[in-house]
Amino acid sequence: MRPIQMVDLKQQYEHIKPDVDEAIHNVLDSCAFINGKPVQDFARHLAGYSGLKHVIPCANGTDALQIALMALGLEPGDEVITPSFTYIATTEVIALLRFKPVFVEVDPQTFCISPEAVEKAVTPKTRAIVPVHLYGQSANMEEIMRIAEKYNLHVVEDNAQAIGCDYTFTNGIKKKTGTIGTIGCTSFFPSKNLGCYGDGGAMFTNNDELAERLKMIANHGQKVKYYHEVVGCNSRLDTLQAAILNIKLKKLDDYIAARQKAAAYYNKAFANQPKITTPFTASYTNHVFHQYTLILNDVNRDELNKYLAEHHIPSMIYYPVPAHRQKMFEAFGGAAYQLPQTDWLTERVISLPIHTELDEEQLAFITQKVLSYIN
Ligand SMILES: *Cc1c(COP(=O)(O)O)cnc(C)c1O
Repeated sequence: MRPIQMVDLKQQYEHIKPDVDEAIHNVLDSCAFINGKPVQDFARHLAGYSGLKHVIPCANGTDALQIALMALGLEPGDEVITPSFTYIATTEVIALLRFKPVFVEVDPQTFCISPEAVEKAVTPKTRAIVPVHLYGQSANMEEIMRIAEKYNLHVVEDNAQAIGCDYTFTNGIKKKTGTIGTIGCTSFFPSKNLGCYGDGGAMFTNNDELAERLKMIANHGQKVKYYHEVVGCNSRLDTLQAAILNIKLKKLDDYIAARQKAAAYYNKAFANQPKITTPFTASYTNHVFHQYTLILNDVNRDELNKYLAEHHIPSMIYYPVPAHRQKMFEAFGGAAYQLPQTDWLTERVISLPIHTELDEEQLAFITQKVLSYIN
């Protein structure tokens, strides 16, 4: 049996090696390392895949969130509603820009931001909502967009974990996550569902003016070289990374299908186990399984993690400390929040290996070890 990893990038690379190696060599030959043709090609291809007008590449997913929030004309102290149960980048950029992160609960079934909690948290200072499509399924975007329209708020989707995921509205219309809000943001960190071989990120929007603004901010606030209209930053997707992403984008739907197949295997093996709650997929979304995350009921999580490690099966806690309990947010009143659902989940979640290269032998081994521990 091949060694089991949380994500097996090496094996995945083996399948696309000739194409990737050729694409890398072409970039080396061209020496167009910054903003080369593959960058523009990739932006166009990803916009086509996503069914929207503009994809603006940038240096990483955190930058995408930061630049998106910079583009919306918010003032210091303006409130941005976001889940506490997420990767730190979502919340960090809000504070970095001197806006006020307002942490709210997630739905304990979907792990995504609770629309009811969002609506309760709206104040006259609220300007934006940052939902996260955590682990690979969409937040309840129809409700979030309804709230956003009602209170005139921007929506910045953190789609770092759910690229390729489809959201279905009650009228039957389907849209890709990241294309529903004012701006969508994603990451091409290597382990993400569409990962490059270094850092990368992108922003999505259908709004022509906003697209220009995002491009300008990512490029030192200039539209015309050496004429700087606003304070921006320097955030670019490498040509090499774009060349790799052009190859991997063609495979994205197959990669998603492979993750879904592995998840289905786990779901079946763990069905009817009272000590394990398998991932729930809401009716309005499919699930692209960036993570396969269980909720443990009456199981010692640390001991399970250790037991699995002894059998060379990695498992991870995403995330061990919710944002509102991070030292980083002490000065933002983090400790004053009461988020019992978030704390409850934080104590009980565990993520098992999931990636495009898991085979049945590995899946059988993992599920057998988990079941033998809990029973
Ligand atoms: C990975 C990730 C990010 C940040 O992406 P980077 O490319 O690592 O900066 C932001 N939000 C979520 C939910 C993520 O998983």
